[in-house]
Amino acid sequence: MTQEQLRDYLRFYQDLGFKTLYRRGEGLGAPPSVVTPPPLEFAMPPSTPLKRPATTPPPAAAEQLLAVLPSLAPEGDTMARIREDLGDCQRCRLSKGRNKIVFGSGNEASPLVFVGEGPGADEDASGLPFVGRAGQLLTQMIEGTASKEGIPIKRPDVYICNVVKCRPPENRTPEADEMEVCGQFLFRQLLAIRPKAICALGSTAAKAVLGTKEGVMKLRGNWQKWRDIPVIVTYHPSYLLRPYNQNAKREAWEDLKKLLHFVYD
Ligand code: URA
Repeated sequence: MTQEQLRDYLRFYQDLGFKTLYRRGEGLGAPPSVVTPPPLEFAMPPSTPLKRPATTPPPAAAEQLLAVLPSLAPEGDTMARIREDLGDCQRCRLSKGRNKIVFGSGNEASPLVFVGEGPGADEDASGLPFVGRAGQLLTQMIEGTASKEGIPIKRPDVYICNVVKCRPPENRTPEADEMEVCGQFLFRQLLAIRPKAICALGSTAAKAVLGTKEGVMKLRGNWQKWRDIPVIVTYHPSYLLRPYNQNAKREAWEDLKKLLHFVYD
């Protein structure tokens, strides 16, 4: 790989907001080695000759490093390639407790992608996203709203995935470094699908997709954007399962109605 390609590679991940890239195949015992993109170079126009700062690895080391970095999302990236790159992932601590990686399911050419937080027990056992109680509610919400609004879609017509692909212990919220490592694969999935809109389910998904600290209450009701793709943030179905959140349920149905009309009208 040339230095130009290396620069493009690092710029790609920098544009997505990643500060560090984790190397493939790293054991869990050792602290992860990271590659920190040299910030100065990214401000340069592409035609500017690359001046290597002291922190940039020399070309031979760079070659070696790139052999283990996640792939750049090239034109024509595919879900199969992303899944293959993910492999039997051991990049973060969540891999220690998982049974199955939950990559995503549904129509890989869908104009609509739902992003949840992370697998729970049922998803960890089956390898499929949103199959437990929250998943059943999500299915009802998608299919119920679509049918009421005369939009001929079912759950398998959309694509569903999560911010992290392995179940966090005790269903805790994924930690920042876990989201950053796994987020590299989520973003490749989103870029490969290039949906017309994304629905972020809950604050964790909103944080991962939009890079914001704002919660659902603040973000819902208005269109947000990831790159050039419109994003709707709404409540996570698990939140809606709690009996005292029935008002939020009504709001979530409103959000879905708006989303489905935007995507399918
Ligand atoms: N909650 C999520 O965020 N994702 C799932 O896949 C299941 C429950």
